Amino acid sequence: MEKLMITIAPTGSIPTKKNNPHVPISPDEIIQTGILCEKAGASIIHIHARNPVDETASTDFQIFKEIYQGLKQETNLILQISTGGRAGMEYEKRSERLSLKPEMASLTTGSVNFPSSVYTNSPDLIYALAKDMKTYGIKPEIEVFDTSMIQNALDLADQDIMNQPLHFDFVMGLKGAIPATIENLVHLKNSIPYGSTWTVAGIGASQLPMSIHAIAMGGHVRVGLEDCIYFSKGKLASNEQLVKRIVEVSDIMGRQIATPDEARQILGL
Ligand code: ZN
Repeated sequence: MEKLMITIAPTGSIPTKKNNPHVPISPDEIIQTGILCEKAGASIIHIHARNPVDETASTDFQIFKEIYQGLKQETNLILQISTGGRAGMEYEKRSERLSLKPEMASLTTGSVNFPSSVYTNSPDLIYALAKDMKTYGIKPEIEVFDTSMIQNALDLADQDIMNQPLHFDFVMGLKGAIPATIENLVHLKNSIPYGSTWTVAGIGASQLPMSIHAIAMGGHVRVGLEDCIYFSKGKLASNEQLVKRIVEVSDIMGRQIATPDEARQILGL
């Protein structure tokens, strides 16, 4: 079986230090987390920016740039910048950071309800972001919150806006989106084109079980405090601990871990 790629999503837009003191907020904290997680076995880092003062999600280009440059200098990780809209929904803000030309960027190919808001991604916005990624030579990680988002991505690939093979991230277990069940995971996996790669981001308590399913099924795994701040019930996690646990589980299951350069090969970067 293909070696396992582990993505670390250390920060996201929501959890603060009040929720879990291990959430990295400043660029330097995010860079240090990247260094530790690479040593632990991660090959990809999914990047969000925060306002250092109040910890809210930020669209500030300079903050993204500082994180990007630091991680590039200090690690060999594949850098994946989020184009998610929790910090601000406008296209210009979400696109600006792509000019840093990271190897990857996330692209949500549809709209979805979040627990207390609507995450809107209009067809025009998705098209424009995908086109920018193609122009800059950035590989999209297609964030799938529901099955319809797979079809939307395939339509973009048909129009030559995205290069094959595609890479998907199934975000499962978020209230309002697709429930984290093994039946749904099998369905998602069977809905993507042969030769595509896929990873699973289980939200909350589903993070560990969905990771284990993905390891067994030949998929890849995303963990991190963006998706779940706990290691186990009532016990807070650190990003590094979450990566280490996946490495241990994968070892028990007989699957080897990909280095960042091996992940580049798997993804065709
Ligand atoms: Zn994210």
